[in-house]
Formats: sequence, C-alpha cells, structure tokens
Amino acid sequence: MQQVILKKGRAKPVLHKHPWIFSGAVARILGDPADGDLVEVRDAGGNFLAHGLLNRRSQIVVRLVNWAQDRPPDAALWRDRVERALAGRATLAGDPATNAYRLIYAEADGLPGLIVDRYGDYLVAQFLVLGMERLKDEMAGLLMELAAPRGIWERSDASVRAKEGLPPVAGLLRGASPPDRLEVRENGCRFLVDLAGGQKTGFYLDQRANRQRVSAYCAGKSVLDAFCYTGGFSVYAATAGAGPLTLLDSSADALALAAENLRLNERDAGQDAFLAADVFQQLRRFRAEGRTFDVAILDPPKFAHAQADVNRAARGYKDVNLLAMQLLRPGGVLATFSCSGLVSADLFQKIVFGAAVDADRDVQVVERLSQGADHPVLLTFPESEYLKGLICRVW
Ligand code: SAH
Repeated sequence: MQQVILKKGRAKPVLHKHPWIFSGAVARILGDPADGDLVEVRDAGGNFLAHGLLNRRSQIVVRLVNWAQDRPPDAALWRDRVERALAGRATLAGDPATNAYRLIYAEADGLPGLIVDRYGDYLVAQFLVLGMERLKDEMAGLLMELAAPRGIWERSDASVRAKEGLPPVAGLLRGASPPDRLEVRENGCRFLVDLAGGQKTGFYLDQRANRQRVSAYCAGKSVLDAFCYTGGFSVYAATAGAGPLTLLDSSADALALAAENLRLNERDAGQDAFLAADVFQQLRRFRAEGRTFDVAILDPPKFAHAQADVNRAARGYKDVNLLAMQLLRPGGVLATFSCSGLVSADLFQKIVFGAAVDADRDVQVVERLSQGADHPVLLTFPESEYLKGLICRVW
C-alpha cells in the first residue's frame, strides 16, 4: 500500500478537509509510490485520513481528493466531480447574455490543479499539478462528453507548473481549434478573446460581476481604466454611457484588442485615449500635468506571489491607490482591486486607508466586491478566495 504518514500533531488540517499536505508535515512515505500516484494519507498512529495525489517535487507534497477510506478516487469519482462543477454553473449556463465563465476552479471544485474556462463553444483547460497532468486524457474525455464543446484548447503554460517539475504545454487538446479571435458575450457586452495568445486562459472572467457594478458609476463620467488588459471594465463603462475613457496598460497587444472591443460594442472612435505605459509612471505624469478623472479603476496583476512579497506588494498597492486618489475630483469614485490571495480583504482595506490618509482625502467605502460566483470559495480551503475590491467615494 502506498502511504504518506504524517508527523505527530499534523493531522488536524486534514481532518478539517484542507486539501494540501506540505512537505514539512510528512514523516515518511511507504510503498515507494511514483510522483503523480494516488496515495493514502495516514496520521502518525497509522489511522486513515484521506486519499490524494503525490508529488515529492512540490512543496505541496499531496493534493487531497477524497476523505472516504472506502472510496479511492476512480473514474466514477472524477465523473462525479466534473458533473458537480457543471451543475454549479447551471445558472450561468442558462443566461443568454453570458457565454464565458469558469467551469472548473481546481481545488475549490474538488479537482486539484485543474482549471477549465468556457468561452462560447470552446473550453480552455490548465493542468497545473502532476497528478492532474496524469489524468489529462480522462478529464478531456469527461469534458468532451459532459460539456460538449467544439474543442478544448490547453493553456498549461502558467509559471506555477515549474513548481511541480512540469514543462509549459499549450495547444489543441481535443476536437476543433478555436478561431484566433473568438467572440464571447458577458452580461450582453461583446468581447474578442485570444485563447491561444492572451493572458491566463484569455480573459479575466473573475471580474464579470464587478465590471457590471463599477459601470453603474460611469454614465457621463470621465473614466481612468488602469491595468485595463483588453478593456473589460471600459467596455461595460462605455455601454453604460461613460464620457471619455483613458485606458492604460503596459501591453500594447492588450490595448489594441481593447480598442477593437470598444468598436465591437459600438463605441464611437476618437473620444477615448489608449496609453501603453507603466501605470505607476503614467499616474505620476498625470498628477504633474494636473489631470483629473471622475472614476478611476485599478485592477493590477497579482503583486504578492509568496509570503515574502507581501510587504513589497502592500507598498505597491498603497502607491497606486494614493496616486489614483490624487487624480480624482472631489466626489469621484475609486474602484480598486487586489487579486493577491496573500493580501487579505482586511489588509487590503488597511492599505487603502493608508493611501487615503497620505492623500489627505475623505474616503467612503460604498461597495465591497469579491470574485464571481463561478470562482466559488471552498470553506475548507480559504486559499480559494483571492479577489477583493472596494468601490470608494473620494472627497
Ligand atoms: N482589468 C482587466 C484585467 C487586468 S489584468 C480586465 O478587466 O480584463 C492586469 C493587467 O495589468 C494586464 O493586462 C497587464 O498587462 C497589466 N500590467 C501589469 N503590470 C503593469 C504595469 N506596471 N503598468 C501597466 N500595466 C501593467
């Protein structure tokens, strides 16, 4: 029997169904399992705790899948998990205004290391841990059968694969290749997505509901969309009747697609500005020029990748929020986000508070935002909660 035996006193998180075993908790491994194999996890006294997928190469040595001794993960269990994930998105699937959303959110859906996003008739999949990489054929077959896409495109080119000893992989996994630019709908807005070349799986699906919330403040307003990528927030703002938009991103390719997306949503060309620049530098330039905005949206990339980054990340968030507040007219709106899981909602609010003090502005939180319903937070796995946002009134 292939078993991972934990050190004394390290069973509690497993009993609480946290799905990760860190290398420091392991006393010994019995039965010489290969990395990627299914193993049993037992406590120091030899009592069964859970079944999981092993990888000695990773800091997370076992990804737990099932806590029932009599049910080691098999084809029926994987099918059950995929069916459950799909059932959890039934409301979204039935909404004709939206056809792009996350179908499978890894550990939070009981499928460690598997991300699957639906973009219209196509799926984009990421296999991010070794045990799941080994299950690729089985998962692809289940997805073709149960989600019935025209094709599955693989984007297992995220840097986290290296931590598992896996090389980056991208390409067609099953069925037909998606077009270079696929048009999708989100709350009635139209977007072109580059599934093969875009960031992540092509689009930041986790902000869907937040784009809608923020657009409610944009009618007739000048809007700064910083870290705009392909214009997610700007397209919603334009649809809501925003005044001039200023889109800012370091990626010229993303900005080009943002301009196309605005045109696709019948935004008249000419009134909006597209700037390929570093947000920190550009906001300082705006400040020096005395530029002001009615609404500022800040949706930066993940600043904290490890606990050691948190202080530096906090300084980055504070800096950019301070700059944005200084550019807002009195009574303006700041929509500010952090997708760093290591920065809690509480810490993020403290950072924005610090920025408000330094900017000498009165700041009211009017809405608190989180990730979309298709990125569910598993209560036993708090790490599945990562996106937080505040909509603030800045006086
Ligand atoms: N708001 C977007 C998603 C933003 S993702 C949406 O709704 O789709 C973060 C974006 O920040 C990426 O497009 C990345 O290219 C950009 N970026 C990262 N660092 C940057 C920097 N220092 N200055 C400007 N843009 C940056």
